[in-house]
Amino acid sequence: MLVSGVDLRTPLKQHFGYDEFRPLQREIVTDALNGRDVFALLPTGGGKSLCFQLPALLRDGLTIVVSPLIALMKDQVDALRTSGIAATFLNSTLDESEAKARWRGLHRGEYRLLYVAPERLMLEGFLEKALNWNVELIAIDEAHCISEWGHDFRPEYRELKKLRTHFPDVPMMALTATATERVREDIVKQLKLRDAQCYVASFNRPNLTYRVAPKTSAYAQTLEFLRARPNESGIIYCASRKTAESLAEKLQRDGVPAKPYHAGMEGKDRSKNQEAFLRDDVRVITATIAFGMGINKPNVRFVVHYDLPKNIEGYYQETGRAGRDGLPSECLLLFSAGDVAKQVRFLDEKSDKEADIARAQLREMVAYAETRACRRATLLKYFGEEWPNQSCESCDNCLEPRETFDGTVAAQKFLSCVYRIQQRSGFSFGMNHVTEVLTGGETDAIRSRGHDQLSTYGIGKELKRQEWQAIGRELLRLGLIAVAPGKFATVELTPAGRDVLKHRATITLTKLAEVREKPRRKRAGEIECDEALFDRLRALRRKIADERNVPAYIIFSDASLREMARAMPTRLGDFGQIAGVGEQKLKNFGDAFVAEINEYLATRTPAIAID
Ligand SMILES: [Zn+2]
Repeated sequence: MLVSGVDLRTPLKQHFGYDEFRPLQREIVTDALNGRDVFALLPTGGGKSLCFQLPALLRDGLTIVVSPLIALMKDQVDALRTSGIAATFLNSTLDESEAKARWRGLHRGEYRLLYVAPERLMLEGFLEKALNWNVELIAIDEAHCISEWGHDFRPEYRELKKLRTHFPDVPMMALTATATERVREDIVKQLKLRDAQCYVASFNRPNLTYRVAPKTSAYAQTLEFLRARPNESGIIYCASRKTAESLAEKLQRDGVPAKPYHAGMEGKDRSKNQEAFLRDDVRVITATIAFGMGINKPNVRFVVHYDLPKNIEGYYQETGRAGRDGLPSECLLLFSAGDVAKQVRFLDEKSDKEADIARAQLREMVAYAETRACRRATLLKYFGEEWPNQSCESCDNCLEPRETFDGTVAAQKFLSCVYRIQQRSGFSFGMNHVTEVLTGGETDAIRSRGHDQLSTYGIGKELKRQEWQAIGRELLRLGLIAVAPGKFATVELTPAGRDVLKHRATITLTKLAEVREKPRRKRAGEIECDEALFDRLRALRRKIADERNVPAYIIFSDASLREMARAMPTRLGDFGQIAGVGEQKLKNFGDAFVAEINEYLATRTPAIAID
């Protein structure tokens, strides 16, 4: 069966309520319908699920969806059922009679989609039974879990190799949001995909704004950030369980509904807090990196990194949890040299290959935090992608270029101090030591090395140590000093640095950025709408969601509500045109929402006095 792209728009609107495909979706769906094996790398929020859900609806048989995220299956299936799609799941959360009923349904061919975890699928006898189900497609979600090279290897995924033997003629689709070249090849090989069509979408997330702020007083900065966004929901990532706990407590005390989430908590408390966040009962979750895998909340409006992430890949994944619904969302990283030093100290206690890799990754993370270049371009470059434009218009460096100042004298002082120290001791020292010498510190290291006898001792008392640290990082960035190879992060002059020192060249430095809440400008993906109506529609959505005992976003996304509050459809037919309103949702919720809009318009229009 060959399908042309045009035909697909009708079922897309009918079942999912969308007029347009996201990038690559149409191609992937078409290939799947034509029976090809497909490998698809789509970023978080790129609409991965639709790639197998739409083909499942257009064919007679069953699509098996393999996913490791048991906690998510219920939500995914609820979302499909709310759109009128026959879907079910099998996992350990079901009691025996419920599981049996679902098995009977499968044998009778009542379902279009079955969600199942790999360990269950590979149970004795499961696949044999599945042979009777007219399986049309097998979709492997989070496919990177099959690869040892990936960051989330799960041994039970390895068993999925057997699928090809059991179902030699059923097309397979492997999907992931994260995979390096090596992992990609491994997935195709392990799953024995045949002549697979590979789709790799851009890693760019146009609706996310990236900002890095110097971490001066982390709690006050965070509170200010949250208070400036009183109705928005988001995640704050912390480095330790302790911070996650205490931060949530402090925020609660200051009137911000927040709950912690980390691996040290009881499973029951963890899921309770997660559930409260998914259902918008608390608007902030303070979490360690244990939180997030498979969190499907589309209206996460911000992700704050309270501490420095260990590597760019993790940072990208964590920030990627913001703005899945395509609306503008913010990523803020609080950055301090102290955080870097802490991590370096920790790594310096180890000296194996793993620690070397971790050090290299940390250096890249620090370079990202300190760059004056576009952050989007820097992130994309990390994933091997070129950003074609000068400015992205949605990162701090593009939006607010930093002020610069003539730093010639400061640079001379710093460079000559590095030079004198090395000359005196025969080897180089770390940045901390250099700034201690510059500011005339009285440490044991300085006294025992005789560095208080240097001509540069105390010549930088006009600045604080913190400011010298920043200047040191600028000089690193400019390539005038470099971190010497070896276990300790010591700094030494580069040939360019020697040149500058000798010829007293003019050096321009950038000022430390300040964090200020600025008036917002229009951002990518923004839907301007009547905010009062949006609030009313949100309350209505909440009421319906509570009645059905599902998270609010399963009823309608924030993006759909904003569309409604912008277009204000007063008749059912117009309401059906809103993106995200499919046939089933129109039937179930259309009347209530249209009534709410009409009621709002009636109260808003001033009554005309008739004499
Ligand atoms: Zn930028």
